[in-house]
Amino acid sequence: MHDSHIHISMSPLKENMYGDIQEFIDLNGKKILAQTTDITDYQDTIALTETLNKKFKNIVDLAIGIHPNVFEEGCMNNQLEDFDLYKYSQKQINLFEEVLKENINKTNAIGECGLDYYNMYLYGNFTSIQIEELKEIQRRAFKKLCQLAKQYDLPMSIHARAKDGDNSCVKDALTILACEGKGSIRGCFHSYTGSKEMLNSILDLGMYIGFNAIVTYPNGENVRELVNLTPIENILLETDGPFLPTQRVRKDKKIQKRYGRPSLVKDIIEIIAKIKDTTYTNIESITDNNYTKLFEKKVKS
Ligand SMILES: [Zn+2]
Repeated sequence: MHDSHIHISMSPLKENMYGDIQEFIDLNGKKILAQTTDITDYQDTIALTETLNKKFKNIVDLAIGIHPNVFEEGCMNNQLEDFDLYKYSQKQINLFEEVLKENINKTNAIGECGLDYYNMYLYGNFTSIQIEELKEIQRRAFKKLCQLAKQYDLPMSIHARAKDGDNSCVKDALTILACEGKGSIRGCFHSYTGSKEMLNSILDLGMYIGFNAIVTYPNGENVRELVNLTPIENILLETDGPFLPTQRVRKDKKIQKRYGRPSLVKDIIEIIAKIKDTTYTNIESITDNNYTKLFEKKVKS
């Protein structure tokens, strides 16, 4: 069992990581991939990864990235009138590049990164011009991260989310991946909830699809359909912890830990095994193998 997408420096995970990892190991847990979102969590996540790897024999892999939502958050945390979004994004990109170079030997992937055409409509009261500007800034950052993924031969953990029925976000992400990567960028579309047509385009590029607790939710019917359409050889498992506890945890109020954490991947494997009409062990071993193929660091000879 593995967890290919988790934010270990976010509360309450960071305070509970020792217990949570032990629980994961007790359920045959092998690897977790710690994602980062912006310059505020690089140092915390890198330090926590090192500590955990000393205690639990290299169980944590590291991904360094820029989450697309950091740009609208930047706008909202600063006074819009005198806020220079371009300068702000450039600062994020420069620092990202510095941290990546410094830590290249312990970095397994570039992530979390990608495009998000969803959140900007939820808050911020952005004008349509500002929204277009935000999208362009996101695309620009994602292009740069793709170039670096190619340069360093690193796989990517990609976030691509839009309003229901809007394919433009996944389309733009795929266009950027194809243009910048020339077919050689490897990666995973994490927490994919988009259309079936776009799923096929992602699979055509040889990419993996990350499924999480949404597949266990009563309203997750469309995601269960996506699981059904994705070959097991292209599936990765994730929690996106501390977000998205599984339905079993959401339903049972007596369970004290109420957040997404690596051991909950077990619930996700169980439901995927049912959808695919196969055994738990089969899903576990094929997806573990997928994880190793994509994220295990290549040893340079
Ligand atoms: Zn995430």
